[in-house]
Amino acid sequence: MNPPDPSRLCIHTMTTKPWSLDEAVEHFSGAGIGGITVWRQHLPDDIAAAGRRIRDAGLRCVSLCRGGFFPAVRESDRGKAIDDNLRAIDQAHALGTDLIVLVCGAVPGLPLAESRRHIADGIAAVLPRAVEAGVRLAIEPLHPVYAADRSAINTMAQANDLCDQLGSPDHLGIALDVYHVWWDSDLPAQIERAAGGGRLHAFHVCDWKTEPADMLNDRGLMGEGVIDIRSIRRMVEQAGFTGAIEVEIFSDRYWAMDQHHYLGKILQACREHV
Ligand code: ZN
Repeated sequence: MNPPDPSRLCIHTMTTKPWSLDEAVEHFSGAGIGGITVWRQHLPDDIAAAGRRIRDAGLRCVSLCRGGFFPAVRESDRGKAIDDNLRAIDQAHALGTDLIVLVCGAVPGLPLAESRRHIADGIAAVLPRAVEAGVRLAIEPLHPVYAADRSAINTMAQANDLCDQLGSPDHLGIALDVYHVWWDSDLPAQIERAAGGGRLHAFHVCDWKTEPADMLNDRGLMGEGVIDIRSIRRMVEQAGFTGAIEVEIFSDRYWAMDQHHYLGKILQACREHV
């Protein structure tokens, strides 16, 4: 399998968090990278103008990160979460991307089954607006280590089940992040299932370090950890996925580095390990 051409790559603005959106656009484009995924905290007030700057720089805006976080103890808070997701759909539309990644949410103390009901209800409540805006929602299953407080959707099978339950195949799908699903023996079958349903919308890469200093912000650069990224890429591409390969790394260590140097390391890691 050949290394991906840089034009197939997309980098998340969170990966190079110290850069502003405009800096990221300039430097990604200058490196020949094809796409960018914008995190909402990097959106300026004039979102449409930012979308134009991204396109003018020759970049595709692959997705907006992130919506979700639907479960809450109080009903009023569940309503606020729905409002926030409706806002995210409007932002994606203004930015000119047709995809929003959902980190579905979980609340310590709330039973997982109940969180999953809140997630299904929350997505169902915002789907009509997504359809209207021409925006797809992609459920990103999170590694079970985050089941307490970030997402009660922890496997590809759960994400596939939720998509089946809610219908809307054109507007609800899955974002596969190797960091979250690499350990799952059911992964090949669930990739086939997602792709067969036309719902495999995104592919995120980074690496799982065996002794992370922090469970959230010490993700590895591809090749630094234990994930067989190339095998998973082969699975998604054999299943028909042709979208961007998105580099999404949260790392205090790399954020402290000169970001130009880091971007060079990302490109090298993609050549050698993706
Ligand atoms: Zn991801």
